Amino acid sequence: MSRTMKKRMLVVDDEREMLKVLSELFSDEGYSVCVAEDGIKAARQIEQTSFDVVITDLKLPGMDGISLLQKTRNATPNTIVIMITAYGTPESASRAMRLGAFDYIDKPFSLDRITSTVQKALEEKPVTEGVIKKDHLSAFVERLKAFGTVIAPQERDGRISFHRLNDISQLSLNYTSTILPLKYFFLPSSMPETDAFPADLFPDDTELGAEPKVFFGVHPHDMQAILRLDEQLGKKKHDLDYLERRKSVLFVGTDDSPDEYSFARGIGAYKRQRGFDIFLTDIGDKYFVKVNTPEGEKLLHNFDRLSEPTQKDRQKIERAEREAQRDQVSIGCHPAALPELIKLTLDDPLWNELEEKCTSCGKCNVVCPSSVTAFDTVKERAIEKYLHSAKDYGKPSCVGCGRCARICPADINPLRVIRALNKKYEISLLSKIFNLHYHQESYGTDKPK
Ligand code: SF4
Ligand code: SF4
Repeated sequence: MSRTMKKRMLVVDDEREMLKVLSELFSDEGYSVCVAEDGIKAARQIEQTSFDVVITDLKLPGMDGISLLQKTRNATPNTIVIMITAYGTPESASRAMRLGAFDYIDKPFSLDRITSTVQKALEEKPVTEGVIKKDHLSAFVERLKAFGTVIAPQERDGRISFHRLNDISQLSLNYTSTILPLKYFFLPSSMPETDAFPADLFPDDTELGAEPKVFFGVHPHDMQAILRLDEQLGKKKHDLDYLERRKSVLFVGTDDSPDEYSFARGIGAYKRQRGFDIFLTDIGDKYFVKVNTPEGEKLLHNFDRLSEPTQKDRQKIERAEREAQRDQVSIGCHPAALPELIKLTLDDPLWNELEEKCTSCGKCNVVCPSSVTAFDTVKERAIEKYLHSAKDYGKPSCVGCGRCARICPADINPLRVIRALNKKYEISLLSKIFNLHYHQESYGTDKPK
């Protein structure tokens, strides 16, 4: 198990002034800073020391920044690498990000920009990591039980739902989606009185209290849905019942097996880090275990089944992580453009067509993981999910789980709706977005005109 708690930084640049500025800046911030003026010297330092952060220029004498990035990833995969450059191109930026750079910053940059990037990277950095053999999963679950009741996905009558895990043989980690979301564990009062869903899909009385729980096997977009509920119910409404149940909870994540209804990656909600105390990546006969929080760290402290990944494991981890993040489904536009798309299409006849198809069964409201409001029409739902929520929280509240589409008797599918609207309004959308940026750039304002 590797631990990387110290803040050691290497700054690599052939501009002496840049080395001086960054070195003084981060030394004042409490980092232990080393510097190098060329790639070869930097590579030597990287072989000898495990740095927390490497800030490197792209163009360097001896060895360029990209080769140094690769060298760092091979030598110390946990090191955060931030590229800086005065000669950036979209190709070099995308190559650097693909190879594992945390960020790519164009020169000149403000000191705030570089310090906030380093801070963000360190916050997201795992505290502990290692691999565990799948044969040892039951010991891992026993560890989780030290915190509280383990709630995990299990198969019942061919359907997956989250329940108290009494026996490891009940665990079903490889699943596409549950029918119902996790929100009912935190909001029992919102459980609908309906016979449209089998009762055993909902949590039972013994699973609903506020005692400590570990949710094991949660997918990244379902975690994002919980974080959106935190915004709506915790921060905005200060719902005491929700906050009480949400208080003593840890989350252990795993990847999903997406189907044709899932569009979490396309809508930018497939985030494997944020919200999770621990994340497990399947690498064949083992899991790669990434611990993200001090609570997760405490839980796995001295856990003897966790071992250092071998070189072969490292290769498998890289492959699995790349695969998990791959954009499998495009929604047709950038997620940040969704509010504009909805605004542009408010009078489109498609909304009336959808109203005519909709049977008003309300199932989509029951299965949606990221809101507790029941919407009467498809259009109302889209306005809230893609327009208002983006205004209130900076992102759509829809996390692209696909549950509403899977369950809808009228075959209404938000992914198809977004794609259809985008296809029809693409040109207007692009010119609108261009104008927004143009006005921001021209007048230096944060507010869209
Ligand atoms: S599930 Fe489909 S048919 Fe039922 S209310 Fe939602 S959109 Fe309408
Ligand atoms: S609107 Fe549909 S796809 Fe989006 S989060 Fe809700 S259930 Fe999932």
